[in-house]
Amino acid sequence: MATLTRVCGIVGYVGHRQALDVVLDGLRRLEYRGYDSAGVAMLDGAGGLAVERAAGALSNLEGKLAGQDGSRFTATSGMGHTRWATHGAPTDRNAHPHRDAAGKVAVVHNGIIENFAALRAELETSGVEMASETDTETAAHLVAAAYASGPTAGELTASVCAVARRLEGAFTLLVTHADEPDKIVAARRSSPLVVGVGDGENFLASDVAAFIEHTRDAVELGQDQVVTIDRGGYRVTDFDGAEVQAKPFTVDWDLSAAEKGGHDYFMLKEIEEQPEALENTLRGHFVNGGIVLDEQRMTEQDLRDIDKVFVVACGTAYHSGLLAKYAIEHWCRIPVEVELASEFRYRDPVLGRDTLVVAISQSGETADTLEAVRHARTQRARVLAICNTNGAQIPRESDAVLYTHAGPEIGVAATKTFLAQITANYLVGLALAQARGTKYSDEVAREFEELAAMPQAVRQTLSTVDQVRTLGRELADSKAVLFLGRHVGYPVALEGALKLKELAYMHAEGFAAGELKHGPIALIEDRLPVVVVMPSAKGRALLHSKMLSNIREIQARGARTVVIAEEGDEAVRPFADELIEIPAVATLLQPLVSTVPLQVLAAEIARARGYDVDKPRNLAKSVTVE
Ligand code: GLU
Repeated sequence: MATLTRVCGIVGYVGHRQALDVVLDGLRRLEYRGYDSAGVAMLDGAGGLAVERAAGALSNLEGKLAGQDGSRFTATSGMGHTRWATHGAPTDRNAHPHRDAAGKVAVVHNGIIENFAALRAELETSGVEMASETDTETAAHLVAAAYASGPTAGELTASVCAVARRLEGAFTLLVTHADEPDKIVAARRSSPLVVGVGDGENFLASDVAAFIEHTRDAVELGQDQVVTIDRGGYRVTDFDGAEVQAKPFTVDWDLSAAEKGGHDYFMLKEIEEQPEALENTLRGHFVNGGIVLDEQRMTEQDLRDIDKVFVVACGTAYHSGLLAKYAIEHWCRIPVEVELASEFRYRDPVLGRDTLVVAISQSGETADTLEAVRHARTQRARVLAICNTNGAQIPRESDAVLYTHAGPEIGVAATKTFLAQITANYLVGLALAQARGTKYSDEVAREFEELAAMPQAVRQTLSTVDQVRTLGRELADSKAVLFLGRHVGYPVALEGALKLKELAYMHAEGFAAGELKHGPIALIEDRLPVVVVMPSAKGRALLHSKMLSNIREIQARGARTVVIAEEGDEAVRPFADELIEIPAVATLLQPLVSTVPLQVLAAEIARARGYDVDKPRNLAKSVTVE
């Protein structure tokens, strides 16, 4: 069974209990997914649709609901949502559910409706006034229109099918109509949705954790399917309304495992979510043959004038920034410097109007990075933010923004946000190359296509990591582990070492392999594990042969070599005590696959040593002090 986990939380219920309780309980189970706002819509059976929403954590909504009375407390059908904002700031107004103008249709949504701008323009032309900045609201108005007249009039399921056919992007949508109060219709494409099947009651949720205390009988929805639930059962169709056979399964996890998608730790779930994180980060950024950013308050001319790039970041984000340098210099022919944000402003960097500062921060609130951004702005430099949190401080203070849509990351050690940051950096590189004309548009399109193939390559890598787990348990008692890389493999080596330090509290260091002979080789002793990230024999033949010599050097001194190499790299096999194969991909993209085994290795060593990989000691998820 696929693990059904990702951004934001959705719960729907039709049954015999008080729906508000069931929905709020379910949302509480999913709250780790999104925390920008929460909202519910309750159907009272007499044509009433009561909606309550509040920005911030679920407790804000609960506070708002406490002490109120009314029909929503007796409703036995309803739905709720916790938001992880992608379109529009995390405010009350943008909180789901969204309604049509008459207040009869309510919609909650997980994902991104890519063609929302066109749909919004079409609705506005027909006189609809938008009440929010979200992409989601368009779906509410479209369903209302489909329900009001035409071939699907008066038919909620058919109306939702008709609307789903028009939407592009990724979505789980739950839709209710006040005139059909005992029914919820849901549509799914590239976003999670699962049905919980009870006795005289049925559930819809983005994750089984939401209903597992009521039923363990569930149904997994396929791609491009619509499901309608009522008290008596559920019915699944495709977007054209043709009935399809759905796949029932029994949930055999306990509640705490269910929240973690069947894993012991959120981090392990997040490692598995990396293909989706990349898909979501790429989605909507290649439009009409060109790269587009999420927000751009600088002109194309400003972009063309950039003659120097500084990347500023901390920790794992800094490692992603090191990779930005390889891509941007190669594609754009502009010098790039990568700086630790905490060092940047204290050394008086040379900045001006034509300098672009790329600030990378998962939370968008990292104090060191924020201060670096402020310093850059006082020097009149332009700032482009790469963040995972919509509307955070750093993007607010920047001239352009590209969001990584990796979803909430609970594990303190960054995993899926790292891969998403690398992807975002490359998109920025392509956007600059396109603006400056250092790449033709067909070349940009080709690079984007290669990026778009990476989720599948990461998926393939993930399917082979059992060997790494076994190795992790074997290495758990090592005193130290060294990591070596060259070219784009060097930042990967640094990241592999950082993961091991933060999770397993083990001495770990990453080196540029060529530096080894200038000192660190003295550290090599008998059976010391050394992880080597091999360049591609085809893509980087010269580096590959140099790296082979480096491996020989360390093996001759007794090291235990753990080699990460492209499939079919026979030349390295004799020098690998342990060979971990990754798919062959384009040179610049290799870090997206070579990092994965290193994350798994660090997590497994930490677990074998008995540590909580979600909450390493002394660390916080986002560091808001300097
Ligand atoms: N794109 C929608 C929004 O920004 C849904 C986000 C979510 O998945 O929570 O409101």
